[in-house]
Amino acid sequence: MKKMAKNASDRPTTGMANRPGKDDLILVAGAGGFIGGALVRQLADQGYRRLRAVDKKPLPHWYQRVPEAESLVLDLSEERNCRRAVEGAVEVYNLAADMGGMGFIERFRIECLRSILINTHLIEAAWRAGTRRYFFSSSACAYNVKLQEDPNCRALKESDAYPAFAERGYGWEKLVSEMFCQEYWAERGLRTAIARFHNVYGPWGTWDGGREKAPAAICRKVIEAKHSGKHEIQIWGDGTQTRSFMYIDDCLKGIDLIMHSDALTATPINLGTSEMITINELVDIAEEIAGLKLKRRYDLAAPRGVAGRNSDNTFIKKMLNWEPGIPIRQGLKLTYQWIERQYLDRQAGRATVCDVH
Ligand code: NAD
Repeated sequence: MKKMAKNASDRPTTGMANRPGKDDLILVAGAGGFIGGALVRQLADQGYRRLRAVDKKPLPHWYQRVPEAESLVLDLSEERNCRRAVEGAVEVYNLAADMGGMGFIERFRIECLRSILINTHLIEAAWRAGTRRYFFSSSACAYNVKLQEDPNCRALKESDAYPAFAERGYGWEKLVSEMFCQEYWAERGLRTAIARFHNVYGPWGTWDGGREKAPAAICRKVIEAKHSGKHEIQIWGDGTQTRSFMYIDDCLKGIDLIMHSDALTATPINLGTSEMITINELVDIAEEIAGLKLKRRYDLAAPRGVAGRNSDNTFIKKMLNWEPGIPIRQGLKLTYQWIERQYLDRQAGRATVCDVH
């Protein structure tokens, strides 16, 4: 064992630890994806000069390429690639996973479960390399599904993950990977941060092709209806499902705060808004942005996920004196406008971020 396990009394319990130096190496795994790409962009904008961006997708398929970063194509489900990726890294952000919206995670449970390999190898490699901080992107799908059977169910607080009854496949992978993060701190002293994201949306994400999530899918469908003149929309489920949706800027701010809070070490925490809306209301907002009304058709056989889900933000407010607060109307407008530009580019024969998948 390389490092001695720390006693609980050795651990700082409060306060924001120092950020890394601008010349410290930071690794972002899953950097070709939506949140990872946005994180690399933000770190570069903040002046971090040594960024390593890793994803298994070929470079032309990355949603954002940040020229300041060293971009590597590596499959992080393989141990030797994880060792290469973390070399010299002071901080590691694990945002790599095989995932998508409900359509993907309900159909491809094995792919989702196999993401366990990524975190398992990456956290071990990070610990061996002497990484100071390790971030894991967990999900609200780790929560007990029995608590989410009603659209008006109460918001989920952190303790609701146990007794465990996570979403099949994807949710269990997140829960077990969280446990790795907790034990690497308890036994080996690697400082880990664990955020349970609730539906993140925004520009530079998947909006087409089967992995897109509800906000992007609904924006795209409304845009298609607007430009095709066929004024109808198909909605998965009966539209009464409830969710909360977090804009990417809030997500990035939360990642930074959680990663650098010593008091939250190895402690899963919700990262989402508590503004719960139905899918029907999400469609209302997208229609308002587009300035039209569509005939709604409900596909009751389509994947719909749990009936209701919201984030209880009591803990994050207490620990960070902050919670994600960008209203869905504001974030969806920016997302809609970006997807519409992508859509029109595609119509004009220009490549878009989703064409290459
Ligand atoms: P994304 O699909 O856009 O990005 C994930 C990236 O990981 C992809 O680019 C993919 O190619 C990469 N990847 C997959 N397997 C890999 C491997 N073996 N080696 C290297 N790279 C690999 O997803 P995202 O929305 O950016 O999500 C980032 C993280 O946040 C994921 O862990 C996801 O489970 C979690 N999360 C996201 C949301 C959300 O609403 N977007 C919600 C909850 C949790």
